[in-house]
Amino acid sequence: MIDLRSDTVTQPTEEMRAAMANAVVGDDVYEEDSTVNLLQELAAYQLGKEAALFVPSGTMGNLAAILTHCRRGDEVIMGDQAHTYVYEVAGMSALGGVMPHTVPNQSDGTLKLDDIRSAIRGKDVHFPDTRLIVLENTQNRCGGVVISPEYMEAVGNIAREHNLKLHVDGARIFNAAVKLGVTPETLVKEADSVTFCLSKGLCAPVGSVLCGSAELIKEARRIRKQLGGGMRQAGILAAAGIYALENMVDRLAEDHARALKLANGLATIPGITLRPGSPHTNMIFIELDAVIEKPLHQIQAELKANRVLVGGSGLYGFRLVTHYWITDQDVDEAIHMFEKVLSSEVV
Ligand SMILES: *Cc1c(COP(=O)(O)O)cnc(C)c1O
Repeated sequence: MIDLRSDTVTQPTEEMRAAMANAVVGDDVYEEDSTVNLLQELAAYQLGKEAALFVPSGTMGNLAAILTHCRRGDEVIMGDQAHTYVYEVAGMSALGGVMPHTVPNQSDGTLKLDDIRSAIRGKDVHFPDTRLIVLENTQNRCGGVVISPEYMEAVGNIAREHNLKLHVDGARIFNAAVKLGVTPETLVKEADSVTFCLSKGLCAPVGSVLCGSAELIKEARRIRKQLGGGMRQAGILAAAGIYALENMVDRLAEDHARALKLANGLATIPGITLRPGSPHTNMIFIELDAVIEKPLHQIQAELKANRVLVGGSGLYGFRLVTHYWITDQDVDEAIHMFEKVLSSEVV
């Protein structure tokens, strides 16, 4: 199959599997797994933070960060298209009693600075305390768009002025860094905490890392245990993460190049329109024009019958994501199959 649904479908490489098989392990709840410890040191170093914590998923990393920063009844400002708001099962509210205060994501993935400012609560007996701002980079639902260091800095300044914390959901922060040609550290300088995923474009089978100050990570470690995320011989998993950080980051540029090639190919097919600006990184968002009468699910099924898997996006569109296992030949094949499936449609 040519699986373009997401970069979460990436399988570990041969070299990664070998690193996992040979990993030195210990009990990580006792902090005695040297491979986990090494991954955490490497991640903290690359993100320019004091310390890091290996967590089973990005969802748990974001939740542990929010629960570490906030008390029950506190409020968190985030985009209405934020992964943490849309796709994380309301964990912050269900488990932490924390309330999201959403402001609209702009099409470039940012939040208007004035929207953030007006969402910050003053001291009043009626109000929750605003505690935290969450930004996402790359912003997934806005199209895998890259948020600039200048914007991060502007939000960092607002956070500091109002004595708020800043968390970055950097599930794909390495895609952003590679795209901008900057270090990931540059992008999260302002952040009190940041999570990134090892299990997406970086190809590791499991895991994310939360980075921040030593004090924050110490508390987040307790919260992770509370959430049931204390792992034992997790070095087996961390070994894949170390391999990923050392070998799989720079090559993300190949995924971005293939996304562009795929987007350009699809854009030549009658009935397909690229979402403006797409692709920014490894995600392509397309819309089908009204001339296409076949329902979306049928197109999806016909593509699948031709070995091409794509994700739905909204009422009229698809999302396609390039990753390590998508070759140039797969890109050509996918374009060809879209042509074939849609060709009977357009006169
Ligand atoms: C995937 C993703 C997450 C969560 O990661 P999981 O490992 O799937 O829990 C968080 N934020 C963004 C932007 C993501 O794309």
